[in-house]
Amino acid sequence: MKTTKAILAGIIYTPSDVIENGVILIAGHRIAKVGPREQVKIPAGTTVIDNQDRLIVPGFIDMHIHGAAGHDLMEATTEAVSAVASYLARHGTTAYLATTVTASLDRTLHAARGLGEIIRASQSSHGASDKIAGAQPLGIHLEGPFLNAKKRGAHPVSQLRKPSVEIAERILDAADDTARIFTLAPELEGALTVLEYVRSRGLRVGIGHSNATFEEAERAIAAGATHAVHVYNAMRPFMHRDSGIIGAVLTDNRVTAELICDGVHVEIPAIQLLVKAKGIERVILVSDSSSGAGMPDGNYRLGNFTVHVAGGVCRTVEGNLAGSTITLDAALRNLASFTGLSYQQCLPCATLNPARILGLEEQKGVIAAGADADLAILDRNHYVTQTYVRGRPAL
Ligand SMILES: [Zn+2]
Repeated sequence: MKTTKAILAGIIYTPSDVIENGVILIAGHRIAKVGPREQVKIPAGTTVIDNQDRLIVPGFIDMHIHGAAGHDLMEATTEAVSAVASYLARHGTTAYLATTVTASLDRTLHAARGLGEIIRASQSSHGASDKIAGAQPLGIHLEGPFLNAKKRGAHPVSQLRKPSVEIAERILDAADDTARIFTLAPELEGALTVLEYVRSRGLRVGIGHSNATFEEAERAIAAGATHAVHVYNAMRPFMHRDSGIIGAVLTDNRVTAELICDGVHVEIPAIQLLVKAKGIERVILVSDSSSGAGMPDGNYRLGNFTVHVAGGVCRTVEGNLAGSTITLDAALRNLASFTGLSYQQCLPCATLNPARILGLEEQKGVIAAGADADLAILDRNHYVTQTYVRGRPAL
C-alpha cells in the first residue's frame, strides 16, 4: 500500500528502543516504516507532519474501563461508545476492552450483545470506514457476576451470582465471542469449573473481587488464571501469616497484575512493592474509570446504579471506591514519579504489556513496521497533544 503520511518526531519510544530525530511512515492504517530520518526515505507526494519537538509513543491500551465522559459502556450504544472512544483518544488511549459491571442477567446479556455488535463492526471496517472515531474497542472484559460479596467494591450485591457454566455460556454467546477477559473470584464454589470453561472458549481469566486465601488463588493460577484485576483493591488484605490472593499475585510469575495508579486506590509504597515483585513487564496500568471520568463533580452511572464523584474520587453511596477518574496518560506519569523509574521504562505497562496479554503484540502497543498506526504524541512533560488511531488523527 502507498505511503500516505510521514510523521517526523523529536524522539520515538518504540517502546523498547529510542529513536532520535525519527520518522514514521504510514500506509493506510498501518506503519510502513520507522527509523532515524537519515535512514528512512520519504516518498515524493507524502504528506509530512512535523512533530520534531515532540515525543511519539505507541497509543495506550486500557484493559479495564467501564465508562467516561458521562457514558457507561453498559449502555452499549454507538452514542455511548463514541463518547468514551473520543474521550480516550484525547488522553492518548487508542484501544481498550469495554468492561462490564455486575448487573441483572438481562442487562448483562443486553450489554454483551450490543458491545459485541459494535466490536465486530469495528473489526470488519479495516480502519477505512469506521463509524466510531477515537479509540478502538478490542473486545469485552467481563467483570462479574461471579464475584465475592465480601469484596464486591461497587458491584451490587443483589446481582452477584454463584459461578455457573450455563450463565457464562449465555454471556459469551451474547457477546458473539468478542469477550477477551473473564474476571471472577476463584474461591467461590464452582469457580474453577467456570474458569476451565471460559478458557476453553479462548478467554483469559482474571481473578479479583476476591477473598481467596493464598492456596485458593494458587489453585486458580494452576488451573489457568493468568491475570489479576486492580491488584490490592477489592482483595483479601495481605497479612504476614495469611498472605492471601495478594501473596499469590505478588509471588507467582504466571500472573499479570493490573494497577490503578491514581495515588488514591493504592498508596505509593504498595505500588513500589508491586513493581519490584512483578517486574515492570507484568504490571498493567488500567483506568477502571466510570462515566464520571472527564466530568465535573456530581452523580454518575456505573452500570445500573449511581456513583458520586468529588475531587476526582468516585465512590458508591456507601462510600466504597467505585473505579477511578484517571486516564492512562496520567497513570504513566504517576507510575514514573511514584517509582523513580524513567517514563520509557514505565511505558510498556500501558502499551506492550496489555498487547501481549491480548496476543496482539505484533499489531498493537509497538511502533514497528506492520503494526497498526496507533500513536500518542506527547509534549516534553508527557501530556498528549495528538493521537492517531490506525493512521487517522483522532483529535
Ligand atoms: Zn472492579
